[in-house]
Amino acid sequence: MNIALIAHDRKKKTMVNLTTAYKRILKSHTLYATGTTGHRIMEATGLDVHCFKSGPLGGDQQIGALISENKMDLIIFLRDPLASQPHEPDVNALIRLSDVYEVPLATNVGTAEALIRGLAAGFLDFREIVKEELDKPLSSY
Ligand code: PGA
Repeated sequence: MNIALIAHDRKKKTMVNLTTAYKRILKSHTLYATGTTGHRIMEATGLDVHCFKSGPLGGDQQIGALISENKMDLIIFLRDPLASQPHEPDVNALIRLSDVYEVPLATNVGTAEALIRGLAAGFLDFREIVKEELDKPLSSY
């Protein structure tokens, strides 16, 4: 599965703790992240993470583009609910696209843990079926 990891500044430590705690599960998936978040995770855990641009510089939009191509299976976006972000429209767009494409999304660590455990238990396997359906040529409908 393709997993996107994003954390606003005051949530980066929580993201590092989360990815450290669930490294065993995460290492068998393909990980993507916004720039700073990804580098922090790689440094702390040794996990291989494909890093996009930093969020405020377009990283959220790059991840959003992959969601719109239905290439993301799980989004963990630890957003800071107590600070306004210069790239708020990008944050909202990413969350909206996750709903458009029915991609499971966690915006806090409680939900993130439930989804990662669900991933390990196979609860997200429906994503493979969704992707197969979307890959079918229109003529097969
Ligand atoms: P960052 O971006 O990982 O580059 O800090 C996160 C964000 O603010 O969207």
